[in-house]
Amino acid sequence: MSAEIKPNTFCTAVTCMDGRIQDSVTAYLREYFHTQWVDIVSEAGPVSSIAIGNQRISKAVVKRVQLSLDAHGSCGIALVAHEDCAAIPGDLAQKKPIALEAQRRLRLLFPTIDVIAIWANLDGTIIFLG
Ligand SMILES: [Zn+2]
Repeated sequence: MSAEIKPNTFCTAVTCMDGRIQDSVTAYLREYFHTQWVDIVSEAGPVSSIAIGNQRISKAVVKRVQLSLDAHGSCGIALVAHEDCAAIPGDLAQKKPIALEAQRRLRLLFPTIDVIAIWANLDGTIIFLG
């Protein structure tokens, strides 16, 4: 992929706080969205909290995503689920529908922005979920 990285551009990751996935996730999203920077909105297992409609977590996430959009002109949002999550146990097959439900909910809140869902393995590989 020969993505052209545009200077001073941003995308937004709604991701777990797990340090093991941060490097691969930001590298993937820079290339996917062709941006220089990735704003990080981190929680413990945010995909699950959003999917089940946890109001406290969802409001905190949405507030920071909105700030990323308003202040940095973020061009896209990625929801990140990952292998061996301490907050939400389960493998890819179990967590993919949860990630897609969280994606559906965020798309309703941010209908004009590209919202994707990805899965991060601990070996650094990323799987596009939708
Ligand atoms: Zn996690």
